[in-house]
Amino acid sequence: MYTIEKITKKVTVENLLKYYDGNKVENYCKNCQNYEKIWSCPPHKFNTYDYLTQYNEVKLYAVKIIFEDETLTKEQKLEIFQVERKIFSDELMSLEDETSEALISGNCYQCDICQRTENKPCILEDKKRYSLEALGLLVGDVTSKLLNLELDWTQNGFMSYLTTVGALLIKK
Ligand code: SF4
Repeated sequence: MYTIEKITKKVTVENLLKYYDGNKVENYCKNCQNYEKIWSCPPHKFNTYDYLTQYNEVKLYAVKIIFEDETLTKEQKLEIFQVERKIFSDELMSLEDETSEALISGNCYQCDICQRTENKPCILEDKKRYSLEALGLLVGDVTSKLLNLELDWTQNGFMSYLTTVGALLIKK
């Protein structure tokens, strides 16, 4: 039905920050239903640039989901994407050690409904993780410029693949 390709690359945080634009990305986030609704998503009570500069290196990971079955609908592809992005994010978190922190694919998915919707504190701080975009990174530029990959490819209405990106931030 579909296959998965994985790509990784280690870069310095300095290099990653070439694709940082906190204000621009937060403006995109304002159009998302998760804005102000999930603690892993903006707005944050901390400076995202300073947060990233606590680290020296970043190992980027991309997962490319290649759809081979032409009968799959767009909705089915997006469902597959949601399943795979959680598997991928769980894998990233399992790679963490005391010097590293995972940046997952998309929003935190630990609770069915985030406590933020009721203005209550996060109940699983040790499992909450941010994404690259939640920290102000232009993910399309990160994938195309640093990983040589476009986020998705649709031709004649057929979405042939979807890509998602995560990372491990590393303190050396
Ligand atoms: S762990 Fe739960 S409460 Fe905390 S950010 Fe994630 S979804 Fe929200």
